[in-house]
Amino acid sequence: MQSVIIENVNKKYSDKIHALKNISFDVQKSEIFGLVGPDGAGKSTLFNIMTTLLFADSGSVNLLGYDVETDYLKVRQVIGYLPGVFSLYPDLTVEENLRFFAVMYKSSLKENMELIRPIWRQIEPFKKRKAGKLSGGMKQKLALCCALIHKPELLFLDEPTTGVDPVSRKEFWEILKNIQQKGITVIVSTPYMDEATRCDRVCLMQSGEIIKIDTPFNIIHDFKGELYSLHTTTIFPLLQAMEHCPVKSIYYPYGEYLHVVFYENHQNILPKFIRFLNENNLNYSNINKISPSIEDCFIELIELKKM
Ligand code: ADP
Ligand code: MG
Repeated sequence: MQSVIIENVNKKYSDKIHALKNISFDVQKSEIFGLVGPDGAGKSTLFNIMTTLLFADSGSVNLLGYDVETDYLKVRQVIGYLPGVFSLYPDLTVEENLRFFAVMYKSSLKENMELIRPIWRQIEPFKKRKAGKLSGGMKQKLALCCALIHKPELLFLDEPTTGVDPVSRKEFWEILKNIQQKGITVIVSTPYMDEATRCDRVCLMQSGEIIKIDTPFNIIHDFKGELYSLHTTTIFPLLQAMEHCPVKSIYYPYGEYLHVVFYENHQNILPKFIRFLNENNLNYSNINKISPSIEDCFIELIELKKM
């Protein structure tokens, strides 16, 4: 069963800023669906349209059988939204924030405590603290409680883990799995490619366009090239030299590594590439063929489109 049906959504903020270009996709019930892309991809614009806060220029969005424009009041009752910008009242305490959201949605803490209890237990020791004084991870857990307190069928989370420490990020994704098991559909955005693997399906976005939609497994399986990684202590000269590399490739820095993707005649190409590195006295070690990450797949999809 589909919880979300989006068809040909377009949004321009001005003649120059075409934030969403013909966006179409479906989300199944109880799916964790990820919108993954860098800043400016159009994720927040799409969230604002899906949550009835912004009108699309054209196209349609249907959530659980309701149209976001004509049935916006119905839509608001069945969704929970954790926006990208800090959504809590910093001067209210943790407990007051939660009560406020419960009252606003005509729900009560008692009624839906079961749903949020595992998350609430972690922030309860700080319930008298002002929300503005919480750590990043704690703030997001409280915001999640507030978005869930009316037991929505569809949960929208815009970059819930941005600026959150790695431990809290991991916990947050475990919480999302629990929420999914309660039958709630989750649409979540992230700029962190590594988080894509935690979604059932991923929509890779860039500059208002969908690059690919599939399961993380299929996205990685569809990687076209042969990916090599080499370690270097001096990435900049290596990148500069790569401009003159006789072997056609896609290459990009990846932390303190250089990733190089080859597309033809693999047996001969690696020795040729290594000769090029040595002839140019380039600093490298540990050149290895590796499996691509979602980030490698994203870069490949973008680069192949340019070619
Ligand atoms: P993301 O959330 O993926 O970073 P956004 O939806 O915020 O992407 O932005 C998509 C594009 O639209 C960007 O180019 C951004 O600068 C632009 N944009 C977003 N909001 C506005 C706005 N209110 N007015 C004008 N341009 C906007
Ligand atoms: Mg955003």
